[in-house]
Amino acid sequence: MSGRVAGGRVVLVGAGPGDPGLLTLRGAEALRRADVVLYDQLVDDAVLGHASPDAELINVGKRGHDAPTRSQDDINALLVRFAHDGKVVVRLKGGDPFVFGRGGEEASACVAAGVTFEVVPGVTSALSALSHAGIPVTDRRYSASFAVVTGHNDPTQVTAATRWEALATAVDTLVILMGMRNLPRLVERILSAGRSPDTPAAAVMWGTTARQETVVAPLADLPKRVEEAGLGAPAVVVVGDVVRLRDELAWFERLPLFGRRVLVTRPEAQAFELSSVIRAFGGDAIELPTVRIEPLEDASALDEALQRIDVYDVLLLASANAARALAARSTELGIPLDRPGLRVGCVGARTAEAAGELGIPVHLVPPRADGEGLAEAVAQWLEPAGLRFLLPRSEVGRDALPDAITAAGGEVETVTAYRTVGAEAGAERLNEELEAGRLDALTFTSPSTVRHFLAMLRPAAREAARRCVVAAIGATTAEALREAGLPARVVPERPEAAALVAALASHFGGSGAEPKEAS
Ligand code: SAH
Repeated sequence: MSGRVAGGRVVLVGAGPGDPGLLTLRGAEALRRADVVLYDQLVDDAVLGHASPDAELINVGKRGHDAPTRSQDDINALLVRFAHDGKVVVRLKGGDPFVFGRGGEEASACVAAGVTFEVVPGVTSALSALSHAGIPVTDRRYSASFAVVTGHNDPTQVTAATRWEALATAVDTLVILMGMRNLPRLVERILSAGRSPDTPAAAVMWGTTARQETVVAPLADLPKRVEEAGLGAPAVVVVGDVVRLRDELAWFERLPLFGRRVLVTRPEAQAFELSSVIRAFGGDAIELPTVRIEPLEDASALDEALQRIDVYDVLLLASANAARALAARSTELGIPLDRPGLRVGCVGARTAEAAGELGIPVHLVPPRADGEGLAEAVAQWLEPAGLRFLLPRSEVGRDALPDAITAAGGEVETVTAYRTVGAEAGAERLNEELEAGRLDALTFTSPSTVRHFLAMLRPAAREAARRCVVAAIGATTAEALREAGLPARVVPERPEAAALVAALASHFGGSGAEPKEAS
């Protein structure tokens, strides 16, 4: 999609099966450009997070074949109405829009109303719930064909006439969606069509998510075993010899954080990286930011420093937030930061990345991503004595960096560039999650995330927090936790998101080795 097409249109986007990392790049782009998003019940918040903050998000509440809160006609009418109003409408559907998603009917409604539409395919649960259960849908050793069938019986639709008798033995792997409610009857039909009762079979519930649960049994026993295990929708049922491979290939459920729910308290803009590493280790990232980054109410001191920018030799960026805040004021004042005499040092790779994206040239990124590491690297890079340093930071910045540079003879001017304020929006949910004992681990990435976290808690939640595994990104945050009476049990060697999650993973008994997706 290059550029905005004039006028309204509808984009049918497949959201993937559950793991928000399985949305396609094109799907994410369509969301960024959407004016309105109509989404299904099962779509993850992190997928919706790709939409612009100005977009209107509408839950149309369809959950597979369960009683929809809105009829298909209503949804079709909404799509057409928004498009006629000139809006770019994303219709976000679980899995792939054309795999039992009624995407075809929505596309037909667009055609009938003269509305332009596009389709962005998605990763269907029919295949990905299996891959995450360690079951390849085909395999040279066991299966050369598969069929995907709906198990939902609607007497008014063509599905009522599904030729189970023929299908049951015509393909090697049979994949059934929406089959949980009718499972005993479906299995009966497949057996009476001549498939062996010993055929390996499985049901995978909530595939690709941290709630994934798999039951394996010989075909004849599957309904009973599924009932005993308490499995229900959404689940994919698979019948065929490929299920044998699961013993060897169940990679996802063996990830070190699989099934663990990990709280992310970082501000929203920075949560994504941490959350995606947590997911890459098989965990469920619960994003409930405890702080928000806000511009200053009075930016005059920062503006003044920018107006005198040419007196400084070195600009030190101690966080991505500092880079963003500084860049925002410099744009506002029309004072570019790429000045020939100004050298720029960043505290770590993420800060350097943020600076680069904002057009700030970066000259130094030390290997150790904290204030001490930057001070050390600065001293090696140039002789600080007699040089003037500018250090924009939050109002609660640490002194380690300026102190070290002052000690080396440099002249440091710190200036407040942004404010960190408590984010109250998620407070109720945070208290509930803690009180219900649903969180396995809590992660903190700065003293302010700790302070505001504690301020948001009711006494019972505070007590419950002590029973979670607490992880701090580095020594300063660990210190703040200790002072608050909530000592960190996990602190990585390097203060980086990936290292934090790896340390957490080894705490939970995994190898701590970084899975490939995390890189
Ligand atoms: N268009 C979707 C399917 C919609 S029908 C797709 O391509 O995946 C809804 C059915 O999909 C559910 O009843 C269930 O059988 C299956 N399903 C959806 N998400 C699932 C998941 N995460 N794990 C297992 N099955 C899932």
